Amino acid sequence: MDVPFLSLREVNRRDADALKAAAARVIDAGWYILGEELAAFEREFAAYCGVRHAVGCGNGLDALSLVLRAWREMGELVEGDEVIVPANTFIASFLAITENGLRPVPVDPDPHTFNIDPARVEAAIGPRTRVIMPVHLYGQLADMTALADIAGRRGLLLLEDAAQAHGAVSRGTRAGAFGHAAAFSFFPTKNLGALGDGGAVVTDDDQLAAYVAALRNYGSEVKYDHPMRGINSRLDDMQAAMLRVKLGHVDADTTRRRAIATRYRDGIRHPGIILPEVVREEAHAWHLFVVRCSWRDALQRHLHALGIQSQIHYPVPPHRQAAYADLAHLHLPVTDQLAGDVLSLPLSPVLTDAQVAHVIAACRAFAEAA
Ligand SMILES: *Cc1c(COP(=O)(O)O)cnc(C)c1O
Repeated sequence: MDVPFLSLREVNRRDADALKAAAARVIDAGWYILGEELAAFEREFAAYCGVRHAVGCGNGLDALSLVLRAWREMGELVEGDEVIVPANTFIASFLAITENGLRPVPVDPDPHTFNIDPARVEAAIGPRTRVIMPVHLYGQLADMTALADIAGRRGLLLLEDAAQAHGAVSRGTRAGAFGHAAAFSFFPTKNLGALGDGGAVVTDDDQLAAYVAALRNYGSEVKYDHPMRGINSRLDDMQAAMLRVKLGHVDADTTRRRAIATRYRDGIRHPGIILPEVVREEAHAWHLFVVRCSWRDALQRHLHALGIQSQIHYPVPPHRQAAYADLAHLHLPVTDQLAGDVLSLPLSPVLTDAQVAHVIAACRAFAEAA
């Protein structure tokens, strides 16, 4: 039995009729950039997250970057200020920091939840620290109570990288509503994915939202008036229309993802496979199901031989990339260890019960010496 890692065709086939109708609506309206569909999606997504503003932009990296850029324009940050970030994140979190003339300060995660360790965050704070950027990695909320407490006590800004955590919720608060601002990605593989690139900044801060809205559109609020040097990074109306369709069932998808994750956690009993630690069920949106295994490459080959595709998130952490050779001296043993032993199993709302059972049986049949 074949188990693809993620079939986007199957994911979007469920909405084919509604997506085609939405595309027709945009074509018939004849307005493609900064139009009614975008405005409607921004309202709906802000309401979904439980915040006052959502500002659509071109992708998740730009969403992160636009927040930092806006804080620079607002005088909250200056060149060389430091941003604390989990060392084991996707490289986009780092790129947003460095492209704004800021310095990433990577810290090791908790090896069981994979999320940034608040104690290490506190220890990494120095005189130039201005921002904490937690990442809700693999879909699980970082410890936002502890991080908000640190940010409040130390006078720091809190920017959530929520690219993997649409809809994750803790005590009634959703991903994106914990920090001063949050960035989402709607890359097609994410839990809320467009049919192309897309992203959004969400915030309760009226002034920040206005800066981001201007910066994504050449630094302009009024046409041909440019008080700031902005960029061009907008969520187009076609993608906004697709996302409005898909926003309607992101919670149902999360419920299905959680059910699959529960079956994996109950079923994959293997002394050599370490399962992910879940802090609270609803606080995990299960973007990825990541296990650890000392024989990771052998496990991946074993699964592949049984028709099961798996992936590694992420094989080389940012501080080990040539792009960040200046960070190569850092001592981040947990991150280095995780890069060598993490493996992501297939998890998506279109996985069938039979496919889930096949993955579980295959994991249980893994012989460590293989
Ligand atoms: C996907 C992702 C991003 C970047 O989003 P894009 O839309 O691909 O630019 C940023 N951070 C994390 C954690 C991501 O997973």
